Amino acid sequence: MTKRYLFANWKMNLTEDESVDLAKKFSEASKSLKNTTVGVAPATLNVSATKKAVGSNLLVGTQNVYYEEKGAFTGEISIPMLKAAGIDFTITGHSERRNIFGESNELVAKRTQKALDEGLTTIFCIGEKLDARESGKTNDILAGQIDALTSLLQKKNYDNLIIAYEPVWAIGTGKVATTKEIEETHAFIAKHWKDQTGYDCPPILYGGSVKPDNYAEIIKVPLVSGALVGGAALKADQFTKLMEISEE
Ligand code: PEP
Repeated sequence: MTKRYLFANWKMNLTEDESVDLAKKFSEASKSLKNTTVGVAPATLNVSATKKAVGSNLLVGTQNVYYEEKGAFTGEISIPMLKAAGIDFTITGHSERRNIFGESNELVAKRTQKALDEGLTTIFCIGEKLDARESGKTNDILAGQIDALTSLLQKKNYDNLIIAYEPVWAIGTGKVATTKEIEETHAFIAKHWKDQTGYDCPPILYGGSVKPDNYAEIIKVPLVSGALVGGAALKADQFTKLMEISEE
């Protein structure tokens, strides 16, 4: 079986104590997993305490990272800061960063490229809004997001990259893409990546209202290597169930 991944994006939720408690539960549950790598991305303030609490049992990452090392960049965090705190990965280009905070394809690509250059595992999120899906523009949107990154990358960067396909209309809405939509879209991403770079596509996760009652179907879809999970990752029982499904 190919390797699977399950990542929790806690967004702007949970206090430090709550993050540590939940991460410890995830860490305990993940001990029996054989084929699934599990990680959590707490709010930045809680990342260090969470990492200290779980050690190497669970990957801990940030929800974003900046490409400069230090300086007058209020509100941002740098890769050296993450490394000093023993952080395992970062997310970049989450749709909330793109759509609420106005991050462009170019800015997301620069954040991602720097993280990869520095050897940090990076979950690069891409996805289309509902109007793009309905007007048949999904592939154009995804290609634009991907090309901004591939134009900056060298081959040495690919090893630490994970792509997360997250249709914006499915995030936190309870609306899940159909298995057909997921299959077609992951196939497009993989082909486009190969066409652009000449190399096989990194693992692709699906994200968007993943729950225990839909994950068994989703994880069976070709070219789905796991999930990036928001809402269901805030509940120990639901996320633990996703871990179990991932191993089936
Ligand atoms: C996410 O935040 O990346 C996400 C997929 O959220 P949810 O699972 O709540 O849709």
